Amino acid sequence: MEDKNKEKINVVELFGSNVFNDKIMQERLPKKVYKELHKTIDEGKELDPITAEVVAGAMKDWAVEKGATHYTHWFQPLTGFTAEKHDAFITAPHADGTVSMDFSGKELIKGEPDASSFPSGGLRATFEARGYTAWDCTSPAFVREDSAGAILCIPTAFCSYTGEALDQKTPLLRSMQALQTQTLRLIRLFGNMTSRKVTPSVGVEQEYFIVDRQKYLKRKDLIFTGRTLFGAMPPKGQELDDHYFGVIRQRIAGFMKEVNEELWKLGVSAKTQHNEVAPAQHELAPIYAECNVAADHNQIIMETLKQVAERHGLQCLLHEKPFAGVNGSGKHNNWSITTDDGINLLDPGKTPHENVQFLMILTCILRAVDRHADLLRESAADVGNDHRLGANEAPPAIISVFLGEQLEDVLEQLISTGSATHSLKGGKLHTGVKTLPDFAKDATDRNRTSPFAFTGNKFEFRMVGSRDSVAECNVVINTIVAEAFSDACDRLEKAEDFELAVHDLIKEYATEHQRIVFNGNGYSEEWVEEAKRRGLPNINSMVEAIPALVTDKAIQLFGKFGVFTEAELRSRAEIQYEGYSKALNIEARAMIDIASKHIIPAVMRFSRNLAGTVNEIKTAGADVTVPMNMLKDTTALLSQTKLALAKLQEAADQAAAMENGREQAEYYHEVVFKDMEELRVPVDKLEMIVDKEEWPMPSYGDLLFEV
Ligand code: ADP
Ligand code: MG
Repeated sequence: MEDKNKEKINVVELFGSNVFNDKIMQERLPKKVYKELHKTIDEGKELDPITAEVVAGAMKDWAVEKGATHYTHWFQPLTGFTAEKHDAFITAPHADGTVSMDFSGKELIKGEPDASSFPSGGLRATFEARGYTAWDCTSPAFVREDSAGAILCIPTAFCSYTGEALDQKTPLLRSMQALQTQTLRLIRLFGNMTSRKVTPSVGVEQEYFIVDRQKYLKRKDLIFTGRTLFGAMPPKGQELDDHYFGVIRQRIAGFMKEVNEELWKLGVSAKTQHNEVAPAQHELAPIYAECNVAADHNQIIMETLKQVAERHGLQCLLHEKPFAGVNGSGKHNNWSITTDDGINLLDPGKTPHENVQFLMILTCILRAVDRHADLLRESAADVGNDHRLGANEAPPAIISVFLGEQLEDVLEQLISTGSATHSLKGGKLHTGVKTLPDFAKDATDRNRTSPFAFTGNKFEFRMVGSRDSVAECNVVINTIVAEAFSDACDRLEKAEDFELAVHDLIKEYATEHQRIVFNGNGYSEEWVEEAKRRGLPNINSMVEAIPALVTDKAIQLFGKFGVFTEAELRSRAEIQYEGYSKALNIEARAMIDIASKHIIPAVMRFSRNLAGTVNEIKTAGADVTVPMNMLKDTTALLSQTKLALAKLQEAADQAAAMENGREQAEYYHEVVFKDMEELRVPVDKLEMIVDKEEWPMPSYGDLLFEV
């Protein structure tokens, strides 16, 4: 490791070296084929079989030169993970007993994994188990190297025999199409006749924890559930704020270096890395990319973090809340709309009040978020995220939009006078030190507590869980904004006086949806009260968030833009309930197992020793008050543990026997989850009493501070 770390790397050469990117395609494909393929990538034209055949051949040759032996259709079923099935390139042996490497256009375009073992939320019941994967040629293929060798990975969408989406990518691509259509419609009205393509740009900041793998392996709760189910707080937590942006420890630095190199090879533009707020917590952010590529890259990032960590004797924890009492992890989904000729439609310019198109877009987004706050909240619902959202930690479960002083002021002017005449300026930042330059200040300070914050030329959706796919939230953002644009276009296209109509519409939307704008502290109690007065939904848990998927409003919205059919929405809700119940069942069973097989026996041993000590001290004629009290405390907590354990066991059995998906999930949330917390209380107290040598697993202190 030492020597390897000293080797200089050529980042420019390394970057994308394992990606079948545009440069490689240009080099390796006949001009005509390259052009045809680009028509599919850029204009969504159907790929013809002859072109596909040539592309497949070139892709295979390239991959084989990289050492690839297999290919896989790499897809994202609704399990929360990526899926793949490897097929070798080899042909059937020829007459002379030799084989050759082969990969056809058909194999590139379409795969047929058995869909019956992936969640389908009832979609499958009425149809065949057959599923198809289809090449998403807008996300480049790549060669991944790991213990399985080198594998050509082809990003694909995954659908049922009858075309229903069974994955994250299909609806994402559909929503991108919807957004493109409606955005083009809108900007044409503003006189833009040149942009031909519109894509959402997405940059995802990924948080994660790193712990020592040997210690991790001694924590059954982490292994089975991704989070600690027991654990007393260490004497030191995150109160000193000394970890955030702190110097990165050498062991972690070595890990990050390799993560970056692996990601660069795969064309992921890993850019920023730093320590996060909690001890052992870190963040990685790549440079933003087209929405579907960014979603794929985020999956690659999560997989790479896990794999590289293992190679360094570390374990990456992607769970939203691995440790109670310590900050959890999320990801920030930065989102903007970009045209093919390089315009960011969310860029307000220096004088936003003069930028009418920007104001129209902005107020449309306010409208979208206000109308569909429930769907946005749902898109971030995830079992682990229940421990963050609304649980007095970033961000609150209430959706609101932060605009910052400058834009809020423009909005105020619009609402009160009907027109905005000036924009607040940033001014100069005076440091008071002669040798430091005075900076030009941003016109707006940052706000860290808003779930949907405008940050200069993009919106940052901060609710997503660290382990979750960003596809879900982007499907929602793309579609709700498409709807708002579509509604605006319906009005503006009919207007006799366009300028006047735009002006009126901006004012109308700003006034009507002002309630979603909040620039204050989103973590405060006052905000909860204020939001209630404003009539904003405050949805505190995943189970309560899921119904948003199947309201008439949602069915109408997704149906209109061809993103989800009603059947698909219902199946997704079903899958979410099922996923929640399964996760809680595993957590409850793991708790029961750990408490009865590890913790209770350890506490018994400890009490027996303590009892022995009491007797010996008594025989010696000394004062036994202290050990006696300890023994009493211990046995009292032990009884409490036993009782809580029995209660949890019963609740878990009852839950497991339930048949209705929604009712079952609700029962897990309302009963089983609370019983789990009840069991945790005495156990965590016991951990503070019992001899460290006796305690059957590494403590929070060991995990968080000894990496
Ligand atoms: P921070 O909020 O921590 O200051 P940055 O401003 O560096 O973060 O950006 C965070 C993420 O947002 C990065 O992935 C970055 O590439 C992405 N980003 C920057 N500009 C845009 C944009 N116009 N659209 C989408 N994402 C963007
Ligand atoms: Mg950020």
